Formats: sequence, C-alpha cells, structure tokens
Amino acid sequence: MSAYNDLMAYQRQTEALAQISGRLGWDQETMMAEGSAPQRAEEHAAIASVLHARRVHPQVGDWLEKAQAKDAVAAANLRHIRRNYERTAKVPAKLAEEIAKTTSLAHRVWAKSRADEDVASYLPMLEKVIELRQEEAAALAQGGDLYDALLNDYETGATGQEISQMFAALRPRLVALRAAVLDRPKPAQLSGTFDEAAQLALSQQLAVTFGYDLNKGRIDKAVHPFSSGSGIDVRITTRTNPLDPFNCFYSTIHEVGHAVYEQNIDEAYLLTPLGGGVSMGVHESQSRIYENQIGRSRAFTGWLYGQMRDAFGDFGIANEDAFYATVNRVSDGYIRTEADELQYNLHVLLRFDLERALIAGDLKVNDLEAAWNDRFQADFGFAVDKPSNGVLQDVHWSEGLMGYFPTYTLGNVFAGCLNVAMREAVPTLDSDLARGDTSGATAWLRSNVQTHGGLYEPKEVISRATGQTPSEGPLLDYLEAKFGDIYGL
Ligand code: ZN
Repeated sequence: MSAYNDLMAYQRQTEALAQISGRLGWDQETMMAEGSAPQRAEEHAAIASVLHARRVHPQVGDWLEKAQAKDAVAAANLRHIRRNYERTAKVPAKLAEEIAKTTSLAHRVWAKSRADEDVASYLPMLEKVIELRQEEAAALAQGGDLYDALLNDYETGATGQEISQMFAALRPRLVALRAAVLDRPKPAQLSGTFDEAAQLALSQQLAVTFGYDLNKGRIDKAVHPFSSGSGIDVRITTRTNPLDPFNCFYSTIHEVGHAVYEQNIDEAYLLTPLGGGVSMGVHESQSRIYENQIGRSRAFTGWLYGQMRDAFGDFGIANEDAFYATVNRVSDGYIRTEADELQYNLHVLLRFDLERALIAGDLKVNDLEAAWNDRFQADFGFAVDKPSNGVLQDVHWSEGLMGYFPTYTLGNVFAGCLNVAMREAVPTLDSDLARGDTSGATAWLRSNVQTHGGLYEPKEVISRATGQTPSEGPLLDYLEAKFGDIYGL
C-alpha cells in the first residue's frame, strides 16, 4: 500500500499546483492589468516547467510499478496517473518545448492575419504547427493513427473513425432540417436595449437556479466566457451586450453547466486525478444540456419570460410562445460560436473533416481555405465573404488544438442521450422547469454523471447514465421535433 499512498500524496501536490496554474489563467482573463502580461507569461512558464518535471519524475515510474489498487477508485487513479506519465514520457522534451513556442507565436500571427483578412500570411505558421503536431502524434501513436493520438488528449478512447461515422449520420439530417427551417417565416428578434446591471443580476439568479454554489465559486466578467478550476473553487465568467441579453444569460447557463459538473464531483476525489471532469465531450454534454435541452426548453423559457419582464419591463415579445420562438430563432451566420443549437454542429463537422485531413496529410494548408469555403457553401448554401468569417475565425488550430473540435459535437450527442434518460427519470421535469425549478434535472445529472468525476472512462459515464451506447439518434430526434414544432414543419 505504501507505494500507492506515497504516489497519491505526491500527486495531490501536483494537482494543487495545476489548480494554481489554472487560477493564474483565470486572473489573467478577469483581473490582471494589461501591463503585467510579460511577468505573467514568465510565471506561467515557471509553473508549467515545475508541473512537467513532477509528471515525468522517475520516482513516479517507480511508484507506478509497485503500486497496487485495492479498489475501483485506486485503479482509476492509477490509470489516470499512468496514462499521463506515459504520454509525457513519449514526447521528447525538445519537441514539447518547440510546440509550446511555435503555438504561442502562431497565436499572434493568427490574430494579425485575421485582423488583416490575410490568409496567406498565416499559412506558413499553420503548416509549421501541423508538422509539429504530426510529429508529436507519431511519437504518441507508435504506429497507430495520428489523429486518434491527438483526439485522445481531449476524449480518451474515442477514434476518428467512429466519430466520422457518427458525424456522417448527423450531417444530412442537419442540412435538411436547417434548409426546411430557413424556408419558413422567422420569429421576432429581440429589439431595444437591456440594462447591463439587470442582465448581470438575472444572470446570477440563473446561475443559482441551475445549482451553482456561489459559496465555492464566483462570477466575473470576461471577453470570452469560460469556467475554471475544480473541486471547491470553481469560477465562471460571463459577458454583457446591451442589445443581446440572451448572450449573457445563455453564456452563464453554459458555463454553469461546466462549473456545476466540477462542483458536484464526489468530494472524496478532491485534488486527485478523479477530481475533474472526465473529458471535453462529457464536460460539454453538461454545459449543453443545461443551456439547450433545459435552458432553451419551452417550459423553462416560459419561466424566463416572466423573469425578463420583471427585470426589463415590456420588451416587445407578446407571450411565452413567441418568446420560446425568439430564444430558438434560426438565422444564417458564418460564425460557429454565435450559431444556434440547430446549426452549431454543422460548423463542427466541417472543422473535424478538414483537420483530420490536414493531420493525415490528405489536405495541404495551401488548399485549406478553398476546402473550407466549398464545404461551407455546400452545407450552408451561401458563400464565405471574408476569411475572418471563414477559415480564420477560430483560435484552435493556431494553438495546435487539432482533435479538440469534435468534442463539441460529441458533447451535444451525449446531451441528446442524457436528455432522453433524464426525462424518463424525472417525469415532472417540464412542470418543474415552468416554475424555474431545475432541481429534478440537476439532481439526476449530479448523481448519474457529475459525481463520478474521472472514475469511469468517458463513454462509460454516458452509457451507465443512459443504459445505452451513445449514438447520434436521440440528438437528431430531439432537434427535428423541437424545430419542427417551432417552425411548423
Ligand atoms: Zn463549453
């Protein structure tokens, strides 16, 4: 037992340092003065190198060899630590360093190219990032599939092949549904301005309504909303736009989904490898089910309508039904992060196919923009007008995050599966939500998904909660029923 206990004591400090590193990031996005950036960069680099050294320390290897798991929790802890140790050991330190340096540079080049609408100035840098990630993938895969090796950093156990089949089944039905919906008259849009202090007050109320514990977290403003931290210090950020209060409310609900997942993990796992969300896909399933299947449901928006009338007075939407349609309004757009629930996944499918081809070497960076624009035209029915609305819109590739995009849609697929099981388990869900009571839903998600943290593998978390292997069917059925109803298809 002593090797296991020694390893876990050491790991606990590593986990604590990782939390500190995350909090530096939170501070940078919310509180830090701009002039402090160079010092912060050095602080980040220092803690990253401490963390790296701890993770590859030969002592960890010795402990892993000797440690015995006495139960399922210990076995899961060892699985996570071993996986992390082996992953770090497989990538030469020099390569890891070059990736860090190049992606930091590429990020700046991307931002300038995007501002200048100049794809050509970005491509050489992107090519370098792809080459380095291919090299890293080859070191990780040891003869296996390169893309899978990258994907596994975000979604353990997932394969490009299996995701590709799932996405191929999603695409035609989403394209058809989108076309049918956009053929119909559009619901009203919000108009007028909405007091920002009132937006923040209602957004805080929403966070609490969805079970976010403000005694162990806090809400601040940031340019791009995010959630940060694990255990009993999980923070979120939101933003306000006087013309678009939905942006504030639904960003908040989304981030609360991520944050509550972290807050609801069994406290026994605090500062252990099991004390965080198990994968990006499962994480996104929680933020999405809070935001969409619950937060944008007819029942919940009926309650929200009343709250918004209390906060802002008459804002020009006649009744709850009209408000539900306004919340779920579908319109043309280029930008993934601004896309509605129906179109969002089409943006992700496009990126998944392109990045998989880039990593496989089947698509050259010089052909990337044309490939993006062709695919966009095919799925969305209109042409990309400028690179910042197309291939330059997302930060991910410049940061080397190939393999990340599919987890967004995987999260939506998981949310679709969980929604069916949750609704079966909580028959009063809609009448609860109509009173602004999410406790039945959040309690079910807590005990069936969130509490487990990293105990099970990602797909297993979902199949244990739903009794089914995750598939795209429930998400498609849900979207077709919901938008078919709103748009009278
Ligand atoms: Zn998210």
